[in-house]
Amino acid sequence: MSEERIGEYRREIDRINEKILRLLNKRAEITTRIGEIKESEGVEKFDPKRESEQFAKLAKLNRGPLSNEIIKKIFREIFRYSLSMMDEDQRKPMLVHRGDKSDTVVKVGNVEIGGGKSIIIAGPCAVENERQLDTIASFLRSLGVPIMRGGAFKPRTSPYAFQGLGIDGFRIMLDVCKRYDLLSISEVVDTHHVELAMEYIDILQIGARNMANFELLKLLGTTRKPVLLKRGYMATLEEFVYAAEYIMSGGNPNLLLCERGIRTFERWTRNTLDISAVPILKQETHLPIFVDVSHSAGRKDIIPALARASLASGADGIMVEIHHNPSVALSDASQQLDFDQFQSLLKTIYPLCENLS
Ligand code: PEP
Ligand code: MN
Repeated sequence: MSEERIGEYRREIDRINEKILRLLNKRAEITTRIGEIKESEGVEKFDPKRESEQFAKLAKLNRGPLSNEIIKKIFREIFRYSLSMMDEDQRKPMLVHRGDKSDTVVKVGNVEIGGGKSIIIAGPCAVENERQLDTIASFLRSLGVPIMRGGAFKPRTSPYAFQGLGIDGFRIMLDVCKRYDLLSISEVVDTHHVELAMEYIDILQIGARNMANFELLKLLGTTRKPVLLKRGYMATLEEFVYAAEYIMSGGNPNLLLCERGIRTFERWTRNTLDISAVPILKQETHLPIFVDVSHSAGRKDIIPALARASLASGADGIMVEIHHNPSVALSDASQQLDFDQFQSLLKTIYPLCENLS
């Protein structure tokens, strides 16, 4: 008997939901039209006075049982979405968004990134000279690590610090990676270098400082070259995802995202690894997600723990800085692992990787 009554109430609720849905969409259509008029007249879309008037009217009309406070909360959300509907760009579906898409697999050479295997990218902070890179490449080849990193253009805090070998660094990367059959990744910092970098390097990295360099992002969007986009150290996840959209909306689907720590008040690490970024980005986007554990930490001792945490939280791979003699490295000496430390790191993460590359 009571089941029957509940069933009846539920059907009524379904009908009410349907009506609310229809009315909300109708309301959204109208606010979009208002938005278009305001846009054409250059008028500010957010109108706090009008919003307060609506709250006051609703409070007057409200007969309960919902309290005015609850009504205000519900309508605040409605107003917030109406405002974002007024913005045309907000209504466009984002290409990077997960939606109902399955995980994107980016194929670089014969390595599949995002296909369920955990990928290790390792190599020095900077390409210093051919001998240094050759030593590191030969070590990585012996361990089966498929992708070597190495910065040719180094965005440094101080203009007096080593700035990288520039184009020569790209050339050394190409020669050495060919010699050891490794894939290469290196950062581009300027639109003028993109054409050349495309010839020399397999994956182009956009560093944290350039995450919002929209001209660079747009240019890379016009290519099909695999790009690894790092999160800016002051960027929200939303801003990060929008930056990724700049590349993908240009027509380049070969995109990897990389969390590399954000700036917080904490001083015992160089940056604070935002581990929650990994499951959130996996959920919100369909792109492969990396974690750069070296720049996140800025110190060696916690790198194995951060690598394990990253893989355990769903990262598709990690990036680690290594050097055959970190004490004489020309940049980031304090965070680069030596060969023994890198090998023990691999041992500690093997159990977490079904298919370590
Ligand atoms: C790098 O990976 O070489 C680098 C400079 O990192 P980030 O852009 O994350 O600081
Ligand atoms: Mn570095």
